Amino acid sequence: MSNSSDFSKTSIKLLFTPGPLTTSQSVKEAALVDLGSRDNSFIAIVAGIRNELLKLAHANTPEYEAVIMQGSGTFGIESVISSAIPANGMLLNIINGAYGRRISQMARVHSIPLIEIINDENQLPDPGEIESALMKNPQITHISVIHGETTTGLINPIEKIGEIAKKYNIPLIVDAMSTFGAYDTDIKKLNISYLVSSSNKCIEGIPGFSFILARRSELEKCRNQARSLSLDIYDQWNGLNSNGQFRFTPPVQSLIAFSQALKELDNEGGVIARAGRYEENNNILIKEMTELGFELYLPANVRGYIITSFIYPAHKYFSFEKFYSELNERGCVIYPGKLSKTDCFRIGNIGHLYPSDIKKLTSAVKEVLELMEIQLSN
Ligand SMILES: *Cc1c(COP(=O)(O)O)cnc(C)c1O
Repeated sequence: MSNSSDFSKTSIKLLFTPGPLTTSQSVKEAALVDLGSRDNSFIAIVAGIRNELLKLAHANTPEYEAVIMQGSGTFGIESVISSAIPANGMLLNIINGAYGRRISQMARVHSIPLIEIINDENQLPDPGEIESALMKNPQITHISVIHGETTTGLINPIEKIGEIAKKYNIPLIVDAMSTFGAYDTDIKKLNISYLVSSSNKCIEGIPGFSFILARRSELEKCRNQARSLSLDIYDQWNGLNSNGQFRFTPPVQSLIAFSQALKELDNEGGVIARAGRYEENNNILIKEMTELGFELYLPANVRGYIITSFIYPAHKYFSFEKFYSELNERGCVIYPGKLSKTDCFRIGNIGHLYPSDIKKLTSAVKEVLELMEIQLSN
């Protein structure tokens, strides 16, 4: 069957991307089932996932609630932005990358009054500037920030921002898409009112949904407030809580695979163990790539261990398209950059990837550089 050989050829690729990511065979296989969305065993799986997600964030009901939203991560963020901020509200959005800019775009689409604190993509926000924005603009009702800016790999200081949110008593919305499951996140201690992540990042599931961990007292305020029907976080939560069901077709297979992915996270040793594996992956990646002569975009003090931005080498033979496609042919998928000022490419080390996979990639990089006749280090 030519179809199946085409499939197996594509399925052996390793994804060094910000997501969707490489998943384990057992997670992929868990999705090979037909189950009705009203089936009791499915309803139990969904309830189990919601509990487990709260546990991962060191929270539980009734103080916090887990809401699952169909669609990719962006849908989950937009459900919060478009449901949580009241008609007379205002958002303070802290930006240092493309995902931060995307939240502003959402606010504009929904005509939500917006104040932005914009920093360069290699720069952390200044807590003093956040405080002075809050003091000058008492109309601000919500703050939003990205935890891991996957644009570069920068980690924002959510502890400090959480302290400010607490001091001014303003609900904090955190896009933890690329960090949840890989950075230990105590949602209550961090004073987060809404944390959003998705199925296909560090929990290592397949794409299909996002999830929101929210303070119940905040969720309750969202009633009759949403600017969208399908993204109404209150109705979604109410539906899940009343009969355990989704309002509209759930991504059944993706949820079943996610339930398996959560078991595998637990078997690995939880978030701390996963963080350890990703950090080891990242250390090997950076060591090998800098030995080959590549330069990092971010300084160490703002860099996380999720994804790394490498500056395009200033070599006359370097072409990203060629570099990318040669690596792709060797089964390694890297990712272009999306920085506004510097030409970079990105290599993610999250997903079902191990040190041996990182070494496979760096050997392929070495081979491709030789093929392109590029010598970067001495
Ligand atoms: C992946 C990601 C998203 C969501 O992207 P989708 O393509 O909608 O899944 C949002 N924010 C960050 C920081 C991300 O890494």
